[in-house]
Amino acid sequence: MIVDLKDVTKSYGDISILKKLNLSLDSGKSVTILGHSGSGKSTLLSILGGTLRADGGEVNVLGNDLLNSNEDSLSIMRRKKLGMIFQHFHLINHLNAYENVLLPLEIDGDIGEEQKNRAKDLLSKVGLADRLEHFPSQLSGGEKQRVAIARALVHNPDLILADEPSGSLDEETGKEVMDLVFKLVEEQGKSLILVTHNKELGKFTDRVMTLDKGVLS
Ligand code: ADP
Ligand code: MG
Repeated sequence: MIVDLKDVTKSYGDISILKKLNLSLDSGKSVTILGHSGSGKSTLLSILGGTLRADGGEVNVLGNDLLNSNEDSLSIMRRKKLGMIFQHFHLINHLNAYENVLLPLEIDGDIGEEQKNRAKDLLSKVGLADRLEHFPSQLSGGEKQRVAIARALVHNPDLILADEPSGSLDEETGKEVMDLVFKLVEEQGKSLILVTHNKELGKFTDRVMTLDKGVLS
């Protein structure tokens, strides 16, 4: 099991967002978590990614007990084993597309031919072979998200966490981008947790769950 959450709780002040939430995911599987705006989807994804600590319960992600891990081990897990895709892309504006994709590899030191080729290969796979030197400001929304998808996969992570990845794109571009996510996740044997309010996307993952009133069902 790559993710195992048991009775996870999270409150902001006295507002309870997650209430004894349970979720498990096997390696290589995908799940869509549907929920309306404000239901706690991003909160849940931040807990899974180790950037936010749950208040209680058990949070096991990729063999790490996140509630009892220090910041260093959380950051190592994120860097080595997780790929993240966000609604607003989170690209680095002063780096070009190729440099953005190389970034997760640079954190670990030496960049050789193998790493450079992997970054270029992924940029080709997302259809941006001719945009390597474009900066984010020179790319469309869909192109920016394609760069972010390549970046999420470049370090060969086990698990991809995607938070409304088509949320700021028009319908057709969003669909193209999601097709690409599903295709690459499948091709590369990754696990995927996708949170979205878009019910259509649930058709493309192994499972669909709904986050409502702090619990998943
Ligand atoms: P979703 O991603 O499903 O729209 P979020 O997880 O972003 O939902 O937020 C769930 C609820 O928690 C919302 O009501 C939001 O206002 C509240 N919330 C989110 N982050 C914080 C925070 N840092 N401090 C206080 N309240 C927050
Ligand atoms: Mg959100």
